[in-house]
Amino acid sequence: EPAISLEGVYKSFRSGSETVHAVAGVDLTIEQGEFFSLLGPSGCGKTTTMRMIAGFEDPTEGTVRLGGRDVTGVAANHRDVNMVFQSYALFPHMNVAENVAFGLKRKRVAKDEIKRRVTEMLDLVELGHRARHRPTQLSGGQQQRVALARALVNQPAALLLDEPLGALDLKLRQAMQVELKRIQREVGITFVYVTHDQGEALTMSDRLAVMNNGGVEQLGTPAEVYERPATRFVADFIGTSNLIRGVVRGDVGGVWRVEIADGATALVAGSPETVTSGTHLHLTVRPEKIRIGVDRPGDDVSAVQGVITETVYLGAATHYQVDIGGGEEITVYQQNASDSAPVAE
Ligand code: ADP
Ligand code: MG
Repeated sequence: EPAISLEGVYKSFRSGSETVHAVAGVDLTIEQGEFFSLLGPSGCGKTTTMRMIAGFEDPTEGTVRLGGRDVTGVAANHRDVNMVFQSYALFPHMNVAENVAFGLKRKRVAKDEIKRRVTEMLDLVELGHRARHRPTQLSGGQQQRVALARALVNQPAALLLDEPLGALDLKLRQAMQVELKRIQREVGITFVYVTHDQGEALTMSDRLAVMNNGGVEQLGTPAEVYERPATRFVADFIGTSNLIRGVVRGDVGGVWRVEIADGATALVAGSPETVTSGTHLHLTVRPEKIRIGVDRPGDDVSAVQGVITETVYLGAATHYQVDIGGGEEITVYQQNASDSAPVAE
């Protein structure tokens, strides 16, 4: 059985005289042990989707299943999932170990088992040496790890994380991304991770759903979503994409010849069947897939002539803006080869 499935899920809110369609027809299946992300811009319905999985919100329409069981309408405390929030929500008057033990105490778990499980969890998040500290004595990253330990100690079937790293600065956030991924691998629990940060979703997820306007635009692995964006929204939202206008001029053995810019030809493999000769379309090309060269390449390479209008040196790479005619401008990233150079102490 999949860990979590949503079938035709809708959620609308009344807001004064208006109705907000926060989630509008979502179908998803999340497998056991997966690191799954909901990625999309602010307001696209990520938190509402998560809250329906947790049971804090009931769908207006549709079914939520956990481990195959229909839990639609079942209260949050009767669902085998736990949620971690951005605002840690730790108890300030309790030390770290007491915070982690809290849920087990309430469930009247035996004392020595609580001790064993709390120690195990604090070791997992590498905070064993901070067991007697108060949350206020810890850094933001450490507090977040306590919140994580507190959720995991209950051994839920799935852990839901809503933008858990949003309050941390960039460096700490990146360290915590690696850390969260390691912890998830170690405990093997299904993680559902909400973020509006595409880099974060791509580096951490086994699979992700790209959301927009309450719906899922694309579902796939990070590579699938990055390499083959299903919609223009996905192409724009994830990474940088060039959208180049073109007209299909024919096909040779499954490879389309697409006329772009000033009569240049691009060769495109694997186009949808709805594409025929004469179809006007947009090609999406990632900036790092384009090479800048002075010589004309061979006939098996798609090439277009252009004029570099702007150059931005970024150390590891240089970004170029290139005018390819017809009022179109594209972005090109070129990796900079760097030799190791001696540095004075
Ligand atoms: P995200 O987490 O992707 O930023 P949300 O799920 O929080 O998006 O919100 C989706 C939409 O639903 C937004 O337009 C938001 O304003 C609206 N919304 C969320 N919760 C409520 C609520 N309780 N009442 C009214 N509107 C809401
Ligand atoms: Mg949100």
